[in-house]
Amino acid sequence: MMVDFSLTEADVRLMDMARAERAAARTVSREIDRIPESETMANEDHAVVAGTVSPHAALKAEKEPISGPYITECLMTMVGHHEFTTRPAPEPFGSWIVNEFGDPAQVEAYGKYRLVIGISEPSAGADPSATTTSARYDAETDEWILNGEKIFISNINRSEGAVVLAKGEPDASGKRPFFNFVVLNETRGFKLTPPMRKLGIHYHDLGGFVMEDVRVPSLAKLERGFVNVQARFNHNRPVIAALGVGMVRSLLDFTHGKLAESGIKVDYAKGRLARSYAEDKLIRMEALWEAAWSVIMRVKWLEEQLGKGALELQTESAIAKAMGGKATRQISQGCMELLGAEGISEEYLAEKWFRDARITDIYEGPGEIHRLTIARKLLGYKKGELD
Ligand SMILES: Cc1cc2nc3c(=O)[nH]c(=O)nc-3n(C[C@H](O)[C@H](O)[C@H](O)COP(=O)(O)OP(=O)(O)OC[C@H]3O[C@@H](n4cnc5c(N)ncnc54)[C@H](O)[C@@H]3O)c2cc1C
Repeated sequence: MMVDFSLTEADVRLMDMARAERAAARTVSREIDRIPESETMANEDHAVVAGTVSPHAALKAEKEPISGPYITECLMTMVGHHEFTTRPAPEPFGSWIVNEFGDPAQVEAYGKYRLVIGISEPSAGADPSATTTSARYDAETDEWILNGEKIFISNINRSEGAVVLAKGEPDASGKRPFFNFVVLNETRGFKLTPPMRKLGIHYHDLGGFVMEDVRVPSLAKLERGFVNVQARFNHNRPVIAALGVGMVRSLLDFTHGKLAESGIKVDYAKGRLARSYAEDKLIRMEALWEAAWSVIMRVKWLEEQLGKGALELQTESAIAKAMGGKATRQISQGCMELLGAEGISEEYLAEKWFRDARITDIYEGPGEIHRLTIARKLLGYKKGELD
Protein backbone atom coordinates (compact mmCIF):
# COMPACT_ATOMS: atom_id res chain seq x y z
CA MET A 1 0.00 0.00 0.00
CA MET A 2 1.27 3.51 -0.85
CA VAL A 3 1.64 6.17 1.85
CA ASP A 4 -0.84 8.98 1.22
CA PHE A 5 0.90 12.31 1.87
CA SER A 6 -2.12 14.57 1.35
CA LEU A 7 -3.31 16.57 4.37
CA THR A 8 -6.90 17.16 5.42
CA GLU A 9 -8.25 20.62 6.22
CA ALA A 10 -8.25 19.71 9.91
CA ASP A 11 -4.59 18.57 9.72
CA VAL A 12 -3.64 21.95 8.28
CA ARG A 13 -5.67 23.85 10.89
CA LEU A 14 -4.13 21.88 13.78
CA MET A 15 -0.61 22.32 12.40
CA ASP A 16 -1.23 26.07 12.11
CA MET A 17 -2.31 26.08 15.74
CA ALA A 18 0.92 24.35 16.76
CA ARG A 19 2.94 26.84 14.66
CA ALA A 20 1.14 29.76 16.30
CA GLU A 21 1.95 28.45 19.78
CA ARG A 22 5.58 28.04 18.83
CA ALA A 23 5.69 31.59 17.44
CA ALA A 24 4.24 32.94 20.70
CA ALA A 25 6.70 30.88 22.73
CA ARG A 26 9.62 32.30 20.74
CA THR A 27 8.91 35.74 22.11
CA VAL A 28 9.99 34.60 25.58
CA SER A 29 12.07 31.49 25.00
CA ARG A 30 15.42 33.30 25.35
CA GLU A 31 14.35 34.60 28.74
CA ILE A 32 13.17 31.11 29.83
CA ASP A 33 16.43 29.58 28.60
CA ARG A 34 18.35 31.70 31.11
CA ILE A 35 16.35 30.44 34.09
CA PRO A 36 17.91 27.44 35.87
CA GLU A 37 15.89 24.26 35.41
CA SER A 38 14.95 24.09 39.06
CA GLU A 39 13.30 27.50 38.89
CA THR A 40 11.29 27.29 35.68
CA MET A 41 7.72 28.39 36.09
CA ALA A 42 4.78 26.04 36.14
CA ASN A 43 3.68 25.34 32.58
CA GLU A 44 0.06 26.32 32.94
CA ASP A 45 0.94 29.65 34.54
CA HIS A 46 2.85 31.03 31.61
CA ALA A 47 1.33 34.17 30.16
CA VAL A 48 2.04 33.05 26.60
CA VAL A 49 -0.39 30.13 26.77
CA ALA A 50 -2.56 30.75 29.84
CA GLY A 51 -6.23 30.69 28.87
CA THR A 52 -5.62 29.36 25.34
CA VAL A 53 -6.51 25.89 24.06
CA SER A 54 -3.59 23.47 23.87
CA PRO A 55 -3.03 22.26 20.28
CA HIS A 56 -2.84 18.68 21.54
CA ALA A 57 -6.15 19.06 23.41
CA ALA A 58 -7.62 20.44 20.17
CA LEU A 59 -6.33 17.36 18.33
CA LYS A 60 -8.06 15.08 20.83
CA ALA A 61 -11.32 16.99 20.46
CA GLU A 62 -11.16 17.28 16.65
CA LYS A 63 -14.36 16.10 14.93
CA GLU A 64 -13.39 16.72 11.28
CA PRO A 65 -11.38 14.08 9.38
CA ILE A 66 -7.62 14.01 10.06
CA SER A 67 -4.90 11.82 8.55
CA GLY A 68 -4.93 9.83 11.79
CA PRO A 69 -4.26 10.64 15.45
CA TYR A 70 -0.63 9.43 15.35
CA ILE A 71 0.23 10.99 11.98
CA THR A 72 -1.34 14.34 12.87
CA GLU A 73 0.25 14.36 16.34
CA CYS A 74 3.65 13.86 14.72
CA LEU A 75 3.06 16.55 12.09
CA MET A 76 2.04 19.00 14.83
CA THR A 77 5.10 18.10 16.92
CA MET A 78 7.43 18.75 13.99
CA VAL A 79 6.03 22.16 13.04
CA GLY A 80 5.42 23.24 16.63
CA HIS A 81 8.60 21.93 18.28
CA HIS A 82 8.92 23.36 21.78
CA GLU A 83 10.73 26.55 22.56
CA PHE A 84 9.98 25.75 26.16
CA THR A 85 7.40 23.49 27.72
CA THR A 86 4.31 25.52 27.06
CA ARG A 87 2.05 22.75 28.38
CA PRO A 88 2.44 19.72 30.61
CA ALA A 89 3.02 16.57 28.51
CA PRO A 90 -0.43 15.55 27.26
CA GLU A 91 0.16 11.98 28.38
CA PRO A 92 3.16 11.41 30.69
CA PHE A 93 4.99 8.14 29.97
CA GLY A 94 4.05 6.42 33.24
CA SER A 95 0.41 7.53 33.19
CA TRP A 96 0.11 6.22 29.63
CA ILE A 97 1.39 2.79 30.70
CA VAL A 98 -1.08 2.60 33.60
CA ASN A 99 -4.05 3.73 31.53
CA GLU A 100 -3.17 1.58 28.55
CA PHE A 101 -2.11 -1.65 30.27
CA GLY A 102 -3.33 -1.48 33.87
CA ASP A 103 -6.33 -3.57 34.95
CA PRO A 104 -9.51 -1.65 35.91
CA ALA A 105 -8.55 -1.53 39.61
CA GLN A 106 -5.09 -0.11 38.75
CA VAL A 107 -6.55 2.48 36.39
CA GLU A 108 -8.99 3.49 39.12
CA ALA A 109 -6.24 3.73 41.76
CA TYR A 110 -3.40 5.29 39.72
CA GLY A 111 -4.80 6.54 36.40
CA LYS A 112 -5.46 10.01 37.83
CA TYR A 113 -1.83 10.71 38.81
CA ARG A 114 0.86 12.38 36.70
CA LEU A 115 3.35 9.52 36.52
CA VAL A 116 6.75 9.74 34.83
CA ILE A 117 8.99 6.83 33.84
CA GLY A 118 11.95 5.58 35.89
CA ILE A 119 14.23 3.30 33.88
CA SER A 120 17.76 4.83 33.87
CA GLU A 121 20.17 4.14 36.72
CA PRO A 122 23.77 5.12 37.49
CA SER A 123 24.97 1.81 36.02
CA ALA A 124 22.10 1.11 33.58
CA GLY A 125 21.43 3.81 30.99
CA ALA A 126 21.66 2.72 27.39
CA ASP A 127 21.36 -0.91 28.50
CA PRO A 128 18.32 -1.49 30.75
CA SER A 129 19.25 -5.17 31.12
CA ALA A 130 21.86 -3.94 33.63
CA THR A 131 19.05 -2.66 35.91
CA THR A 132 19.89 -3.18 39.57
CA THR A 133 16.72 -1.80 41.21
CA SER A 134 15.30 -4.79 43.04
CA ALA A 135 11.77 -5.88 43.87
CA ARG A 136 11.08 -8.46 46.58
CA TYR A 137 7.62 -9.80 47.45
CA ASP A 138 6.54 -9.86 51.10
CA ALA A 139 3.79 -12.51 51.28
CA GLU A 140 2.94 -11.59 54.86
CA THR A 141 1.79 -8.09 53.96
CA ASP A 142 1.04 -8.71 50.25
CA GLU A 143 3.44 -5.88 49.39
CA TRP A 144 6.50 -5.45 47.19
CA ILE A 145 9.69 -3.94 48.62
CA LEU A 146 11.72 -1.80 46.22
CA ASN A 147 15.34 -0.67 46.53
CA GLY A 148 17.41 1.27 44.01
CA GLU A 149 18.25 4.60 42.42
CA LYS A 150 16.92 6.20 39.22
CA ILE A 151 18.61 9.11 37.43
CA PHE A 152 17.90 11.45 34.48
CA ILE A 153 14.14 11.25 35.06
CA SER A 154 12.12 13.77 33.02
CA ASN A 155 9.66 15.96 34.92
CA ILE A 156 10.11 14.06 38.17
CA ASN A 157 9.85 17.30 40.15
CA ARG A 158 6.52 18.07 38.50
CA SER A 159 5.03 14.61 38.92
CA GLU A 160 3.11 12.77 41.57
CA GLY A 161 4.97 9.52 41.07
CA ALA A 162 6.64 7.21 38.60
CA VAL A 163 6.29 3.88 36.88
CA VAL A 164 9.52 2.21 37.94
CA LEU A 165 11.39 -0.57 36.16
CA ALA A 166 12.79 -3.13 38.61
CA LYS A 167 14.04 -6.69 38.58
CA GLY A 168 12.46 -9.41 40.68
CA GLU A 169 14.07 -12.36 42.43
CA PRO A 170 15.72 -14.96 40.13
CA ASP A 171 13.26 -17.47 38.62
CA ALA A 172 13.90 -21.23 38.22
CA SER A 173 16.30 -20.57 35.30
CA GLY A 174 18.23 -18.01 37.35
CA LYS A 175 16.90 -15.04 35.33
CA ARG A 176 15.59 -11.97 37.12
CA PRO A 177 12.31 -10.91 35.46
CA PHE A 178 11.48 -7.26 34.75
CA PHE A 179 8.54 -5.73 36.58
CA ASN A 180 6.87 -2.29 36.49
CA PHE A 181 5.57 -0.73 39.68
CA VAL A 182 3.68 2.46 40.33
CA VAL A 183 5.43 4.38 43.11
CA LEU A 184 3.94 7.62 44.41
CA ASN A 185 6.34 10.35 45.53
CA GLU A 186 4.80 10.49 48.99
CA THR A 187 5.62 6.82 49.74
CA ARG A 188 7.90 6.29 52.74
CA GLY A 189 11.50 5.62 51.65
CA PHE A 190 11.10 7.49 48.31
CA LYS A 191 13.46 10.50 48.09
CA LEU A 192 13.98 12.94 45.23
CA THR A 193 17.59 13.79 44.31
CA PRO A 194 18.62 17.33 43.22
CA PRO A 195 17.56 18.54 39.73
CA MET A 196 20.23 18.37 37.05
CA ARG A 197 21.54 21.38 35.08
CA LYS A 198 22.35 20.69 31.46
CA LEU A 199 23.54 21.96 28.07
CA GLY A 200 20.16 22.65 26.48
CA ILE A 201 16.39 22.27 26.82
CA HIS A 202 16.58 24.25 30.05
CA TYR A 203 12.80 24.21 30.32
CA HIS A 204 12.94 20.41 30.70
CA ASP A 205 13.02 19.30 34.33
CA LEU A 206 15.44 16.42 34.92
CA GLY A 207 16.09 14.77 38.26
CA GLY A 208 16.16 11.45 40.01
CA PHE A 209 15.13 9.53 43.09
CA VAL A 210 16.24 6.82 45.46
CA MET A 211 14.08 4.11 46.95
CA GLU A 212 15.05 2.61 50.28
CA ASP A 213 12.78 -0.24 51.35
CA VAL A 214 9.85 1.40 49.61
CA ARG A 215 6.75 -0.74 50.16
CA VAL A 216 3.99 -0.74 47.56
CA PRO A 217 0.79 -2.83 47.55
CA SER A 218 0.57 -5.72 45.07
CA LEU A 219 -1.97 -3.60 43.16
CA ALA A 220 0.96 -1.35 42.15
CA LYS A 221 2.61 -4.12 40.11
CA LEU A 222 1.69 -3.86 36.43
CA GLU A 223 1.61 -6.90 34.18
CA ARG A 224 3.88 -7.34 31.11
CA GLY A 225 7.05 -5.81 32.63
CA PHE A 226 9.40 -4.35 30.02
CA VAL A 227 6.87 -4.96 27.20
CA ASN A 228 4.86 -1.98 28.50
CA VAL A 229 7.91 0.26 28.24
CA GLN A 230 8.68 -1.02 24.76
CA ALA A 231 5.14 -0.22 23.56
CA ARG A 232 5.46 3.36 24.73
CA PHE A 233 8.91 3.66 23.14
CA ASN A 234 7.49 2.39 19.84
CA HIS A 235 4.96 5.21 19.88
CA ASN A 236 7.19 7.93 21.28
CA ARG A 237 10.56 7.47 19.60
CA PRO A 238 9.38 8.78 16.20
CA VAL A 239 7.73 11.72 18.01
CA ILE A 240 11.03 12.57 19.72
CA ALA A 241 12.73 12.31 16.33
CA ALA A 242 10.06 14.68 14.93
CA LEU A 243 10.86 17.19 17.69
CA GLY A 244 14.53 17.11 16.68
CA VAL A 245 13.93 17.44 12.95
CA GLY A 246 11.44 20.23 13.69
CA MET A 247 14.15 22.08 15.58
CA VAL A 248 16.69 21.75 12.78
CA ARG A 249 14.06 22.77 10.21
CA SER A 250 14.01 26.10 12.06
CA LEU A 251 17.82 26.19 11.92
CA LEU A 252 17.80 25.43 8.19
CA ASP A 253 15.27 28.21 7.55
CA PHE A 254 17.31 30.64 9.64
CA THR A 255 20.49 29.66 7.76
CA HIS A 256 18.75 30.17 4.39
CA GLY A 257 17.74 33.65 5.56
CA LYS A 258 21.23 34.59 6.74
CA LEU A 259 22.85 33.33 3.53
CA ALA A 260 20.29 35.27 1.47
CA GLU A 261 21.30 38.44 3.38
CA SER A 262 24.86 37.82 2.14
CA GLY A 263 23.60 37.37 -1.43
CA ILE A 264 23.63 33.55 -1.47
CA LYS A 265 20.27 32.23 -2.65
CA VAL A 266 20.10 28.48 -3.16
CA ASP A 267 19.28 27.52 -6.73
CA TYR A 268 18.12 23.90 -6.63
CA ALA A 269 18.12 23.58 -10.42
CA LYS A 270 21.83 24.35 -10.80
CA GLY A 271 24.10 21.40 -11.50
CA ARG A 272 26.36 20.19 -8.72
CA LEU A 273 29.52 21.60 -10.27
CA ALA A 274 27.94 25.05 -10.65
CA ARG A 275 26.93 25.29 -6.99
CA SER A 276 28.89 27.09 -4.31
CA TYR A 277 30.04 25.12 -1.25
CA ALA A 278 27.35 26.76 0.89
CA GLU A 279 24.58 25.94 -1.60
CA ASP A 280 25.75 22.36 -1.93
CA LYS A 281 25.95 21.90 1.82
CA LEU A 282 22.45 23.26 2.37
CA ILE A 283 21.00 21.06 -0.37
CA ARG A 284 22.67 17.97 1.10
CA MET A 285 21.41 18.80 4.58
CA GLU A 286 17.90 19.26 3.22
CA ALA A 287 18.11 15.88 1.48
CA LEU A 288 19.08 14.28 4.79
CA TRP A 289 16.23 16.15 6.46
CA GLU A 290 13.71 14.82 3.89
CA ALA A 291 15.01 11.27 4.32
CA ALA A 292 14.68 11.40 8.11
CA TRP A 293 11.23 12.97 7.93
CA SER A 294 10.00 10.32 5.45
CA VAL A 295 11.17 7.50 7.73
CA ILE A 296 9.44 9.09 10.73
CA MET A 297 6.17 9.52 8.84
CA ARG A 298 6.33 5.96 7.55
CA VAL A 299 6.37 4.60 11.12
CA LYS A 300 3.39 6.77 12.02
CA TRP A 301 1.58 5.55 8.92
CA LEU A 302 2.28 1.95 9.99
CA GLU A 303 1.14 2.73 13.53
CA GLU A 304 -2.24 3.92 12.23
CA GLN A 305 -2.70 0.42 10.78
CA LEU A 306 -1.13 -1.72 13.52
CA GLY A 307 -2.36 0.20 16.58
CA LYS A 308 -0.76 2.54 19.09
CA GLY A 309 2.74 1.42 20.10
CA ALA A 310 2.24 -2.00 18.40
CA LEU A 311 5.14 -4.28 19.26
CA GLU A 312 5.75 -5.01 15.55
CA LEU A 313 6.89 -1.38 15.23
CA GLN A 314 10.02 -1.87 17.33
CA THR A 315 12.60 -1.95 14.53
CA GLU A 316 10.91 0.71 12.36
CA SER A 317 10.59 2.94 15.37
CA ALA A 318 14.28 2.47 16.25
CA ILE A 319 15.20 3.32 12.63
CA ALA A 320 13.14 6.53 12.80
CA LYS A 321 14.78 7.54 16.09
CA ALA A 322 18.28 6.71 14.85
CA MET A 323 17.74 8.57 11.55
CA GLY A 324 16.06 11.54 13.26
CA GLY A 325 18.84 11.75 15.86
CA LYS A 326 21.56 11.58 13.22
CA ALA A 327 19.88 14.17 10.98
CA THR A 328 19.39 16.48 13.96
CA ARG A 329 23.05 16.24 14.98
CA GLN A 330 24.49 16.60 11.49
CA ILE A 331 22.19 19.40 10.35
CA SER A 332 22.59 21.45 13.52
CA GLN A 333 26.39 21.12 13.23
CA GLY A 334 26.32 21.88 9.48
CA CYS A 335 24.20 25.02 9.92
CA MET A 336 26.63 26.30 12.56
CA GLU A 337 29.48 25.82 10.09
CA LEU A 338 27.66 27.97 7.53
CA LEU A 339 26.55 30.61 10.03
CA GLY A 340 29.93 31.25 11.61
CA ALA A 341 29.91 33.67 14.55
CA GLU A 342 26.25 34.58 14.04
CA GLY A 343 25.42 30.97 14.81
CA ILE A 344 26.76 31.25 18.34
CA SER A 345 25.50 34.76 19.05
CA GLU A 346 22.82 35.07 21.73
CA GLU A 347 21.20 37.67 19.49
CA TYR A 348 19.48 34.80 17.67
CA LEU A 349 17.81 31.57 18.75
CA ALA A 350 20.08 29.51 16.45
CA GLU A 351 22.60 28.83 19.23
CA LYS A 352 19.78 27.73 21.53
CA TRP A 353 18.37 25.34 18.92
CA PHE A 354 21.91 23.98 18.45
CA ARG A 355 22.19 23.25 22.19
CA ASP A 356 18.61 21.97 22.47
CA ALA A 357 19.00 19.67 19.46
CA ARG A 358 21.82 17.52 20.88
CA ILE A 359 19.57 15.69 23.31
CA THR A 360 17.52 14.17 20.47
CA ASP A 361 20.18 11.54 19.91
CA ILE A 362 20.48 10.64 23.61
CA TYR A 363 17.14 10.21 25.33
CA GLU A 364 14.73 7.38 24.50
CA GLY A 365 17.83 5.45 23.46
CA PRO A 366 21.03 6.88 21.94
CA GLY A 367 21.65 6.41 18.19
CA GLU A 368 24.57 4.04 18.85
CA ILE A 369 22.25 1.64 20.67
CA HIS A 370 19.45 1.89 18.10
CA ARG A 371 21.91 1.04 15.34
CA LEU A 372 22.99 -2.04 17.31
CA THR A 373 19.36 -3.11 17.88
CA ILE A 374 18.49 -2.62 14.21
CA ALA A 375 21.57 -4.56 13.06
CA ARG A 376 20.77 -7.42 15.46
CA LYS A 377 17.23 -7.62 14.14
CA LEU A 378 18.16 -7.45 10.46
CA LEU A 379 21.13 -9.81 10.70
CA GLY A 380 19.55 -12.25 13.13
CA TYR A 381 22.03 -11.77 16.00
CA LYS A 382 21.13 -12.03 19.68
CA LYS A 383 22.18 -9.60 22.38
CA GLY A 384 25.59 -10.82 23.52
CA GLU A 385 26.51 -11.85 19.96
CA LEU A 386 26.56 -8.23 18.66
CA ASP A 387 27.28 -5.67 21.39
C1 LIG B 1 16.88 15.17 28.83
C2 LIG B 1 16.86 13.71 29.18
C3 LIG B 1 15.66 13.12 29.55
C4 LIG B 1 15.64 11.79 29.97
N1 LIG B 1 14.46 11.26 30.45
C5 LIG B 1 14.47 10.02 30.98
C6 LIG B 1 13.30 9.51 31.65
O1 LIG B 1 12.26 10.19 31.73
N2 LIG B 1 13.36 8.28 32.21
C7 LIG B 1 14.49 7.51 32.14
O2 LIG B 1 14.46 6.40 32.66
N3 LIG B 1 15.61 7.96 31.53
C8 LIG B 1 15.63 9.20 30.95
N4 LIG B 1 16.77 9.69 30.36
C9 LIG B 1 17.97 8.86 30.31
C10 LIG B 1 18.31 8.40 28.90
O3 LIG B 1 17.38 7.47 28.44
C11 LIG B 1 19.74 7.87 28.96
O4 LIG B 1 20.59 9.00 29.08
C12 LIG B 1 20.11 7.07 27.75
O5 LIG B 1 19.40 5.86 27.73
C13 LIG B 1 21.61 6.77 27.71
O6 LIG B 1 22.06 6.27 28.93
P1 LIG B 1 23.35 6.91 29.65
O7 LIG B 1 23.23 8.39 29.56
O8 LIG B 1 23.49 6.32 30.99
O9 LIG B 1 24.54 6.48 28.71
P2 LIG B 1 25.50 5.23 28.86
O10 LIG B 1 24.71 3.97 28.90
O11 LIG B 1 26.44 5.50 29.98
O12 LIG B 1 26.26 5.33 27.49
C14 LIG B 1 27.18 6.41 27.22
C15 LIG B 1 27.43 6.47 25.72
O13 LIG B 1 27.98 5.24 25.27
C16 LIG B 1 27.24 4.72 24.18
N5 LIG B 1 27.19 3.27 24.27
C17 LIG B 1 26.77 2.53 25.33
N6 LIG B 1 26.85 1.22 25.04
C18 LIG B 1 27.33 1.12 23.79
C19 LIG B 1 27.63 0.01 22.92
N7 LIG B 1 27.44 -1.25 23.30
N8 LIG B 1 28.10 0.29 21.68
C20 LIG B 1 28.29 1.58 21.26
N9 LIG B 1 28.03 2.66 22.04
C21 LIG B 1 27.55 2.43 23.29
C22 LIG B 1 25.85 5.31 24.32
O14 LIG B 1 25.20 5.40 23.08
C23 LIG B 1 26.15 6.68 24.91
O15 LIG B 1 26.38 7.60 23.86
C24 LIG B 1 16.82 11.02 29.94
C25 LIG B 1 18.03 11.60 29.52
C26 LIG B 1 18.07 12.93 29.17
C27 LIG B 1 19.40 13.52 28.79
